[in-house]
Amino acid sequence: MKYCTNLLFAVLLLPVFVFGQGKKAAKGGDKIDKLKAEAIAAVEANAAQAQQINDMLFSFAELGFQEEESFKYLTTLLEKEGFTVKKGIAGIPTAWIATWGSGKPLIAVGSDIDCIPKASQKPGVAYKDPIVEGAPGHGEGHNSGQALNIVAVLAVKKLMEREKIPGTLMLWPGVAEELVGTKAFYVRDGYFKDVDACIFTHVGNNLGVSWGDNGYNGVVSARFNFEGQAAHAAGAPWRGRSALDAVELMNIGWNFRREHLELTQRSHYVISDGGDQPNVVPSKAAVWYYFRERTYPKIKKLFETGVKIAEGAALMTDTKFTYDILGSAWPVHTNRPIAAAMYDNIKKVGLPTWSDEDQLLARASQLELQAPKMEGLATKLDSMGMPTSSAPVVMMGGQAMTPMGGGSDDIADISWSLPTIVLRYPSNIPGLPGHHWANAISMATPIAHKGIVYGAKAEAMTLLDLLLKPELLKDAWSYYKDEQTKDIKYEPLISPKEQPAIYLNKKIMTEFKPKLEPFYYDSAKYKTYLEQLGIKYPTVRDDQREAVKKAVEKEKSSAAKAGSSRSE
Ligand SMILES: [Zn+2]
Repeated sequence: MKYCTNLLFAVLLLPVFVFGQGKKAAKGGDKIDKLKAEAIAAVEANAAQAQQINDMLFSFAELGFQEEESFKYLTTLLEKEGFTVKKGIAGIPTAWIATWGSGKPLIAVGSDIDCIPKASQKPGVAYKDPIVEGAPGHGEGHNSGQALNIVAVLAVKKLMEREKIPGTLMLWPGVAEELVGTKAFYVRDGYFKDVDACIFTHVGNNLGVSWGDNGYNGVVSARFNFEGQAAHAAGAPWRGRSALDAVELMNIGWNFRREHLELTQRSHYVISDGGDQPNVVPSKAAVWYYFRERTYPKIKKLFETGVKIAEGAALMTDTKFTYDILGSAWPVHTNRPIAAAMYDNIKKVGLPTWSDEDQLLARASQLELQAPKMEGLATKLDSMGMPTSSAPVVMMGGQAMTPMGGGSDDIADISWSLPTIVLRYPSNIPGLPGHHWANAISMATPIAHKGIVYGAKAEAMTLLDLLLKPELLKDAWSYYKDEQTKDIKYEPLISPKEQPAIYLNKKIMTEFKPKLEPFYYDSAKYKTYLEQLGIKYPTVRDDQREAVKKAVEKEKSSAAKAGSSRSE
């Protein structure tokens, strides 16, 4: 009854209220809409710059912690654009923070820059064809996010200058994301303590955003170093104690234990040191594990189980061991109000128009890699991603699955420190394996370029929302304080003594950098990297072209049949 009276009261007051406030709100809204339209036009006008940055980083193909060329190129570019750049942050030579503007709000915009071992691949070619055999390559598409962020931020910066909009923009890179190696250190060392909101961008195959628990696993990355006794492996093996035996026994122990772990865990290892040569009993050996689980306590417990099994292996082999934490990440949780604002903008931007060439490359690649569906590129926007506790998550590749854990991203450590969202943009091909040469196929082609421009439009619009609507930031912080962190408090998985493992990948890059250098993109000479490499777009084999043609025809005829049976 009380509700009815209140409602009646509200209805009576409504016209006056709306009249008074509505006009003012509409005026402010109109202005923001006009600025958004200008930002979109500025991003479109800068499409060539986005393409150049993207293609340049693609050609550098640098592994985590060794992103030297990417570092030089990006920091030089941002300094030229008027940003103040702090270099080598958190003790990481290839990390930096670039800021422009003054005062509050301080909005951070980030994206990863590192690539994948042995994923070298010529762009635009729908079958395995490396630029340099065995070399690293952008088989995760981390060459694209900075291009997106830079054109979006430059568009907004221009408007802030003209309109005298207060605030500071901060650009930053996810260094060594594949090693979950840096973002927890950025947080620990205070680089995000004054940031009001963070937009992170990651390549995907649709334009989208999620809020809440993203369904990721968190992770501890740790290397176990065993030490035994060397001896002549044939002459006096009884005098040796093999560190490699310990590594093998640890792996056997772990693989037996797997059966008795929760189904949400993911764990995997590589033997990073297996000894030198067979006739010397290995005095040193090492194995590197990723322990992944859904929650902080479970990640800790999984890692502790690993340490216990290492102890057992050392006992059995009469060796000693130490471990090093090489990286870590929490499970990702993203902010609802900012995601909702971003999704509103995404709906206005829509998806790129794909050419027949784009679709042919995508379908031929999907056939080549035996993707679950030969569906081509996305032509319909995803709905906004919901927390995994209430709905199945859409995994990479566009499949809806029950939340059973999966990959990790150390953006999580930032997302647990302040309101953060992750914008995904359609620069990759759906249904590919991930961390694979095939995921590099689209990454310096019109597919990547269009995806970046569309992502940049949505990002620029959302930056304007964050700068011009104080209530959005207020809502973002209430969500962060009153919902996200109400019962769960962030505790880093790294201790104060851990240091970033900046030596990782050094050996591999020392070998491959000289081989990759001749293929660095020369943007002064060539319009695109495809042009420089002399690649016809798209390059598909005759059998691939035939198979795609047949599959598309089959799809069309079954769609027509379904249509006619519905009308009967
Ligand atoms: Zn990634």
